[in-house]
Amino acid sequence: MLLTVDDDVNVSRAVARDLRRRYGGSWRIVRAESGSQALEALREIKLRGGEVAVILADYRMPGMNGIEFLEQAMDLFPAARRVLLTAYADTNAAIDAINVIDLDHYLLKPWDPPEEKLYPVLDALLEAWRAADRQPVAETRVVGHRWSARSYEVRDFLARNHVPYRWYLADEPEGERLLAAAGAEPDSIPCVITTDGTALVNPSDVELANQVGLATAPAGDFYDLIVVGGGPAGLGAAVYGASEGLRTLLVERHATGGQAGQSSRIENYLGFPDGVSGSQLTDRARRQALKFGAELLTTADAVALETAGPARRLVLGDGGRIDAHAVILATGVSYRQLNAPGLGDLTGQGVFYGSALTEAPSCSGEDVYIVGGANSAGQAAMYFARHARSVTMLVRGSGLEASMSHYLIEQIAAVANITVRTCTEVVSAHGTDHLEGLVLRDSSTGQTEKVDTHWLFVFIGAAPRTDWLDGVVTRDEHGFVLAGPDLIVDGRRPAGWAPDRDPYHLESSLPGVFVAGDARAESVKRVASAVGEGAMAVALVHRYLAGR
Ligand SMILES: Cc1cc2nc3c(=O)[nH]c(=O)nc-3n(C[C@H](O)[C@H](O)[C@H](O)COP(=O)(O)OP(=O)(O)OC[C@H]3O[C@@H](n4cnc5c(N)ncnc54)[C@H](O)[C@@H]3O)c2cc1C
Repeated sequence: MLLTVDDDVNVSRAVARDLRRRYGGSWRIVRAESGSQALEALREIKLRGGEVAVILADYRMPGMNGIEFLEQAMDLFPAARRVLLTAYADTNAAIDAINVIDLDHYLLKPWDPPEEKLYPVLDALLEAWRAADRQPVAETRVVGHRWSARSYEVRDFLARNHVPYRWYLADEPEGERLLAAAGAEPDSIPCVITTDGTALVNPSDVELANQVGLATAPAGDFYDLIVVGGGPAGLGAAVYGASEGLRTLLVERHATGGQAGQSSRIENYLGFPDGVSGSQLTDRARRQALKFGAELLTTADAVALETAGPARRLVLGDGGRIDAHAVILATGVSYRQLNAPGLGDLTGQGVFYGSALTEAPSCSGEDVYIVGGANSAGQAAMYFARHARSVTMLVRGSGLEASMSHYLIEQIAAVANITVRTCTEVVSAHGTDHLEGLVLRDSSTGQTEKVDTHWLFVFIGAAPRTDWLDGVVTRDEHGFVLAGPDLIVDGRRPAGWAPDRDPYHLESSLPGVFVAGDARAESVKRVASAVGEGAMAVALVHRYLAGR
């Protein structure tokens, strides 16, 4: 069903008429003239087992405004797409609503003609609803042990790929029942039972991706543009590439979203004054890329880049080869490992790199330790503080000022259960099948101390993932890819450079191969700049193609 609510009877009728004209054949259109009347209608639909795909609510309604109504409607139909109808003067309210109720769209009234201003928006929302939210929610089930590293990886993979799942402990009754029904032994974990009832015992990421409907192999063997990496830079490139008519393939090794997908709250991205979760932001970008026709592969690891005549060839981990006119490298960076005795064996069993947001509920009432003093560590501290009894930040330096944004330092100072321990290092970690304790050293006094904890999250900087490009494109001493003016040394172009021009701004030492985002040497490590570079790289791809 599509539901529309507007207190102005004439407007309400007009909206319903426009909706019926286009969607009346396949959808039931429900009309209400106040927030409370609309809520009553939604409750009735719920009880009868109906489904609501899109709700369009007027903002200015007496008693209950559109945002208040949509907030309550979300409780009944969380998957329904939400549209606010506004007059010009209310645009600010609508923008606020994007954050408060995760609004999908706002439409300015009156729209004329609906073919241009209303239907394209609703078509896209209905398509997104059909594609994503109509899948049975939370029916994929994962049975595993709390401290099994692979159980954690499977849950992390599903969560980061936006596949809803339910988690069952193998030693609890329902977990035991599911394992028995799947014909699996109690230690055959993790066991994933997909929505169609298929049981997968300790599946690989590729098996998992295929079973939950994620594409893992390309549909074609030649593209205009291949983008490697599905973080903000890669998603930006995919959106702009596909929307500008390039046959675009995005190749992602793990899950779209990249580092940003792990951020619990991005507060400095333009247009989101109240912050936005990285997962929400990048999921929207993913859907946007798909909408424009980009092809997205998951669990596809790029392992080599070659030239094939005028084309560029990408080799995948499974041996597959794909050619394209141009390639954008958007492979970002990955977390550095913390070296201390005991940590390696306990990774995934209490020791985690990055936010591991899926673990937050399990930290409820416990003492959590976070290593790092930059923004990512600060955000994680704020996030875990909502669940944990205490959060202790272990910072090697003498303060946070040099490494963390001022706003975040202030937020942390205001949270009672976060403690910041400066001049502190992890000396070792202890535990048999999971983390049980840490030894910490105060570098200013040299004193060590043992603390009991099951949770350590590490954020100590990151390194690029570009070894596979060795000898193909020029990189700096840390592995970041050099591009554009950075390739010109003493007025000379890079060795082997054939074109009769300098490399374009984001172009690497191999013509037609561009780099965007954190993987580029001297890049600004920010979501906004990554997205911007993704878009800019596409513009340069056009220039490259035109000049060949
Ligand atoms: C916890 C956290 C919080 C953050 N908070 C903020 C913030 O508040 N504001 C802000 O502006 N920035 C923030 N950042 C930084 C921001 O997320 C990064 O600058 C941004 O994500 C960089 O985007 P990217 O696309 O260049 O790379 P990434 O986001 O690193 O994405 C790279 C992608 O490439 C994939 N990949 C790598 N190698 C291969 C390969 N060979 N084959 C296939 N795929 C590959 C990876 O799996 C990954 O998905 C945060 C980072 C973290 C970790």
